[in-house]
Amino acid sequence: MQFRDLKTQYSVLKDEMDKAILDVVASSAYVMGPKTKEMETAFADYVGVKHCVACNSGTDALLLALKVWDVKPGDAVFVPSFTFFASAEVIAMQGATPVFVDVDKDTFNMDTDDLERKIEQTIKAGRLTPRVIIAVDLFGLPANFKAIRKLAEKYGLYVLEDGAQGFGGRIGDRKACTFGDISTTSFFPAKPVGCYGDGGAVFTDNDEWAALLDSYHIHGKGSDRYDNVRIGMNSRLDSIQAAILLVKLKAFADYELVDVNKVAARYTEKLKDVVKTPVVPEGFYSSWAQYTLQVENKEVRAGLQAALKDLDIPTAIYYPIPMHRQTAFSYINLDENQCPESDRLAHTVISLPIHPYLFEEDQDRICEAISQYLKK
Ligand SMILES: *Cc1c(COP(=O)(O)O)cnc(C)c1O
Repeated sequence: MQFRDLKTQYSVLKDEMDKAILDVVASSAYVMGPKTKEMETAFADYVGVKHCVACNSGTDALLLALKVWDVKPGDAVFVPSFTFFASAEVIAMQGATPVFVDVDKDTFNMDTDDLERKIEQTIKAGRLTPRVIIAVDLFGLPANFKAIRKLAEKYGLYVLEDGAQGFGGRIGDRKACTFGDISTTSFFPAKPVGCYGDGGAVFTDNDEWAALLDSYHIHGKGSDRYDNVRIGMNSRLDSIQAAILLVKLKAFADYELVDVNKVAARYTEKLKDVVKTPVVPEGFYSSWAQYTLQVENKEVRAGLQAALKDLDIPTAIYYPIPMHRQTAFSYINLDENQCPESDRLAHTVISLPIHPYLFEEDQDRICEAISQYLKK
């Protein structure tokens, strides 16, 4: 059994995928070119924003957004402590200071009460200028953007939606990657929509920022690629990856997103009386980048993981170390106990295999094994 079965997905899409890839090979337009433009338009249309700028990774996408807003040393950027390292790493890459915010025990997303507390503390301390809130759509579920936007307006901050795991999620009719002033996603293979290598994208409705993103991702180009008007990056999306993403987006929109939601619903139905299953608030829709349970403590988790491994059922721990405890951030003088919920989750979460191609029989076997172990 696979944690995320990309082989089966390829075998389903094979004919269309092979043709798409070979067409790019034959075209000899390997970097950028018409396929990348076509992909950007398709992804912008799918989420419902004016501009999509494709780049080399989800990490670069976040970094590009911070460059557009000129985030720099002396700036504070608020980011959840319970997330993938890249969400916070980009802040430090710009020389700014990450301020870690705790998360909600049910949704795994930014706790907006703690967000306001951390903004107030930062203002009071007077050392840093609050600039940006990076809200992560963790495990596929959009963050609480209504409350986040309110705080952003109150304190005059930008909202950057890290939709690396959130692509395809919704709040009401509105899709993920439209909730930030700028939003980003990742096309790393294991994400809800992945390519066959690294890739990412930035989304915005703002024309001026879109023009800056376009410049920053190609060496700060001006009117011409050899007229460089700012210090930028080399962060382009290969045409082959763009062609792959066009095939993937179609499958995702046609059936994969619906199917993965069926898998999640079946897990919840079978496990909700046995263990704490993920919570999707009313009006929210997840793209299920992960399906994550919470067990009692670290010992129970280790036992459960080992028992499942014996049955050839893969699981994963996202994430074992919260950001406020990462060695790389030890240079920031941090209160150890500033994000207790993130600490608790780091010890109690366990993610199950989830993807649109998971067989019901496999799922039932997983649920049976979990029930057996936890009832012991
Ligand atoms: C994967 C991920 C990223 C980084 O994406 P890459 O394409 O791997 O650079 C950023 N934020 C979150 C929340 C992620 O899960």
